[in-house]
Amino acid sequence: DWTTAHAAVADVETSHARLRQTVDNQIDPAIELEVVVEAGEPVDLVIVEVNPAVLATYGVTREQLVGESLVGLVGDNLLSEPYRSCIDAAVTGDSLVLDGLAFKVPGSDELHLFDVRAYRTGDRLAVTWRDVTDRQREQDALARSERLFRSTVMDAAIGMAVADPDGTMRIVNAALCRLLERDETWLVGRSLIEVIHPDDRERVLTERARLMDVGHDGDTVISEIRLLRADGESVQVRRAGVIVRDSTGEPEHLLVQVEDLTEHHRALRELEYRAFHDPLTGLRNRTWVQEILEVDLVAARLASSALAVLYLDLDRFNVVNDSLGHAAGDALLAVVAERLNGCLRAGDRLGRVGGDEFVVVLNGIADPDEAEEIAEQVAATLMRQVSVDTAVEGHRVLPTMSVGIAVSDDTSTAPSLLRDADAALVRAKKDGRNRWAFADTHQHERAIERLTLEDALRLAVERHEFVTYYQPIVRVGSGEIVGHEALVRWAHPERGILLPGEFMDVAEASGIVGEIDLAVLGGACAALGSGVMPGTVSVNVSAVDLARTTWFDDVLAALSRHHVDPSRLVLEITETAALELPEHTRWSLDRLRDLGVGLHVDDFGTGFSSISLLQDLPVTGLKLDRRFVTALTPHEDSAANALAAGLAGLAAGLGLIGVAEGVETEEQAHVLRAQGWSHGQGWLYGRPAPLP
Ligand code: C2E
Ligand code: MG
Ligand code: MG
Repeated sequence: DWTTAHAAVADVETSHARLRQTVDNQIDPAIELEVVVEAGEPVDLVIVEVNPAVLATYGVTREQLVGESLVGLVGDNLLSEPYRSCIDAAVTGDSLVLDGLAFKVPGSDELHLFDVRAYRTGDRLAVTWRDVTDRQREQDALARSERLFRSTVMDAAIGMAVADPDGTMRIVNAALCRLLERDETWLVGRSLIEVIHPDDRERVLTERARLMDVGHDGDTVISEIRLLRADGESVQVRRAGVIVRDSTGEPEHLLVQVEDLTEHHRALRELEYRAFHDPLTGLRNRTWVQEILEVDLVAARLASSALAVLYLDLDRFNVVNDSLGHAAGDALLAVVAERLNGCLRAGDRLGRVGGDEFVVVLNGIADPDEAEEIAEQVAATLMRQVSVDTAVEGHRVLPTMSVGIAVSDDTSTAPSLLRDADAALVRAKKDGRNRWAFADTHQHERAIERLTLEDALRLAVERHEFVTYYQPIVRVGSGEIVGHEALVRWAHPERGILLPGEFMDVAEASGIVGEIDLAVLGGACAALGSGVMPGTVSVNVSAVDLARTTWFDDVLAALSRHHVDPSRLVLEITETAALELPEHTRWSLDRLRDLGVGLHVDDFGTGFSSISLLQDLPVTGLKLDRRFVTALTPHEDSAANALAAGLAGLAAGLGLIGVAEGVETEEQAHVLRAQGWSHGQGWLYGRPAPLP
């Protein structure tokens, strides 16, 4: 049927024309193919039409392509898989979608990626493709950078948030959650402003607005702000804000990083504090004292006034430290620091400059007397008992201080004042503890002397340069010698016989006194054992001795080595030393007393007098200090007489032996006898002398 045949041909032509139109209009390269059938099998695809995009893209002419076999063009081996798919599509009529196919670009070895589409129209197959190599690379790069970005943000050690330009958080990392003690879900969707301390909000908003205004990428604002934690506490952070813009320059994201500064600030404060403070007492340290002294000196000079430096040193601190332990020593220092602090006037300075050494700077001193008055007040405030607890027991310590005072003049510098006050302190110690001394012109040499003295003392112990003198103790009524006091002397190879006053403070401070006393005790027991010594021998016991745990055994050993009846030995302990007795020494004293050893409180009335002491300890006697004896007058009614008489009554009432020291005249002896003093000691009866 011609008509039908014609119509069929017309149909095919219409469909070809339609296909042509579609293919031609494709932006992407497109070709029309026809299946070549051999022996009923589709074996090849032949190009029957190409669109302008193909010609433009590959720079070929239509004639070069039309009639070509696809296999011949692209290569069978490379195409096998997609090629088969195309033939299948042509046969079955299913449209074909192949994405990301890799082809070599003709004329080069470069692999490109293509998305391919094929569909059948009539008896032809239209194939179109798009080179997606660049797009794919971009996507890959984007995905990679996004992964990188996320891991940078999420795993960063510092807090990070990605927010909208208005501050609404979109991404927060774990570090930020930890810092704010908030969940990710709580934070995301919330405004950054909500987690900023109210006082800092306005500043942050201003800074952000400024950042937005800059109008280009990469600008950062860095500032320190406080954030609010879930519990309401604020956290000091260093915050860096960056605006990320889109291609048109509009702000797209706000990237915020916050670094916790709490630790940093604490460390800074601590560093600063440590530079100028002593960690134990919280007082300022030497560096600070020196610096502030420089400043005060300038001020004093401008105001043409003077200032005074008090150099204070805790008496016998090493005894506390050695016998009660460092913890007790530290506790004592803390109390002392507190008491000193309480004594200061406005504008005065206080610092701890060494182990048990403190410096007070008194500003605006009218004259040296004023400095002395204040030193006196300080000493009085300090001299109250302190209870210190050790691991095993509590102890009472009576802190006293020796003070060196230096008053500024036109030539003073901070170092010279400190040095002079320190030297004066050494002298105060030498004169006996718990007192103060003014700087004098020879201070500097004396300080050096003290340093060498300690070395010299050690050498003297080794060389047995210490000798014992004995001074008689008599019954006041009859003058009969009842015993002797052993008094140490240093037979110095160059300087001759030195009295304890010249070396005892250094010997005590350095602990060397322990060895000296041991030698004196040994000598005394030897004298008693040998029979040359009538009656008793009194030996002086230092606080350093009492603190030593082996002291008790040493005394027993000395007694037994020379076969001495313990009742012929008397121990003299000063009041202050007795007050600070460690527990183990109390026990030792009780045992020694049980054996018959006598115990006398020396220099009674000069230390920190505690009458209850006479009851607390197994005391057998008290020695009235020479000062009271010297002050005695022939008139019954003087205060000095009343004191001495009262103490005699106290001794008698407690059944103690009363020994008056430093009796130099018959008049004194007379008054003392009348007051009821049973025993006396002094030049009147005999000077200290070596054993004959
Ligand atoms: P002290 O135990 O009170 O000894 C009495 C001091 O008074 C002795 O001073 C003695 O020489 C002195 N003296 C005695 N009679 C008179 C007098 O009539 N007039 C004057 N002006 N002084 C008199 P010394 O020997 O210089 O001893 C001073 C202190 O040194 C002693 O005071 C004692 O506390 C301590 N001391 C002496 N020997 C030793 C010792 O072997 N070991 C210890 N730990 N301390 C000792
Ligand atoms: Mg004595
Ligand atoms: Mg005495």
